[in-house]
Amino acid sequence: MFILEDYPLQSLNTFGLAAWARHYVEIHSVDELTDALAFAGARKDPVLILGGGSNVVLTRDHPGLVVRIALRGVEVLEETADHCLLRAAAGEEWHSLVESCLQNEYFGLENLSLIPGTVGAAPIQNIGACGVELKDRLDSLEALDRSTLKIVRFSNQECGFSYRSSLFKQALRDQYVITSVKLKLHKIPAPVTSYGSVERELETMGVTEVTPYDVSQAVCRLRRRRLPDPAVLGNAGSFFKNPVVQTETFNELKSRYEDLISFPETDEGVKLAAGWMIDRMGWKGFRSGPVGVHTEHALVLVNHGGAKAEEVLGLARDIQQSVEGAFGVELEIEPRIY
Ligand code: FAD
Ligand code: NAP
Repeated sequence: MFILEDYPLQSLNTFGLAAWARHYVEIHSVDELTDALAFAGARKDPVLILGGGSNVVLTRDHPGLVVRIALRGVEVLEETADHCLLRAAAGEEWHSLVESCLQNEYFGLENLSLIPGTVGAAPIQNIGACGVELKDRLDSLEALDRSTLKIVRFSNQECGFSYRSSLFKQALRDQYVITSVKLKLHKIPAPVTSYGSVERELETMGVTEVTPYDVSQAVCRLRRRRLPDPAVLGNAGSFFKNPVVQTETFNELKSRYEDLISFPETDEGVKLAAGWMIDRMGWKGFRSGPVGVHTEHALVLVNHGGAKAEEVLGLARDIQQSVEGAFGVELEIEPRIY
């Protein structure tokens, strides 16, 4: 394990923001992780855990230790005629895992194709796309308690998953390092095609007998069309969560905006399309110097090159204020701000 000093983080966050770590280490085993946390603990240094850096906004240099999770390995723990239980280490790349599961005919992750980042970060915000969330496939996970340095197992229920969130993003924030996840996948294909844009893409592709491979291909096609590739244009995916409002608020808004986009009511309330509200306020394609809003997707803030964190957060604030002014709805920022 090599702890490096004064390490640049610009290429380690997909927004491409310039920041430096006082100390930096890549860990390849749980022992190395324990040693790294002990090193920082002895110095009373703050620790920042990084996976692929695709859901963070780095606003300043990190004064302590940045730990990049590079734990690798995928193993099948159990296989029956209709399901498979597999464990994947936290540093595995998420999309590679989705692809290898499809190749091995373990189904259920196809709607989550092409989400950037690592396996270990996936539970943090309960990654979701196109009608499926991680919580629908996760059996349990293992995590290192950052204060006791002991491994703890969390069942699916104990993770407190909700829409783009979990206990690890709320009450247990920064207390655990996820080291591996266990996923329960199907051996018998059960493609989820009810999600509007996936259904339409499958139609465009001319698919009639839908397989999980078709779903993955449809999801990849629509994502490649609408989302900027971070290797070309810095971004952290959706910058805001879709707000969930009470029915009365929804009814009042619907009476004012006939074309308001919303989704069926759940126990949490009525979900509104934040992208629609931002677009309606004229922000789509907006650019101010190096920062802007993606031309194809109003939820995605972009770095055209050389953006500073305060410019990104300034634009985010302006968008939040304009949406709140018009709709009375508060937009919550999705990535973690450091
Ligand atoms: P990082 O950005 O490195 O970290 C995110 C947070 O998790 C940080 O707080 C970090 O400290 C913490 N963390 C990371 N690893 C661990 C660990 N092992 N243990 C404990 N804490 C950890 N998200 C979706 O939900 N759905 C999408 O469809 C989606 N599409 C995206 C598209 C694009 C183009 C981009 C850039 C992002 C998108 N995202 C999406 C957001 C992002 O990809 C996910 O949140 C992803 O899970 C982040 O993984 P990461 O490894 O990059 O995490
Ligand atoms: P889209 O299909 O154009 O839909 C736009 C918005 O409407 C999405 O935010 C989506 O909510 C919501 N929506 C559409 N159909 C829905 C349905 N049947 N039920 C409930 N909600 C519905 O979305 P997109 O922007 O092209 O992205 C495709 C998928 O990738 C979406 O699921 C999106 O969340 C995900 N994505 C996430 C990020 C991120 O960083 N978090 C970035 C890019 C894409 P949901 O967001 O709840 O699905």
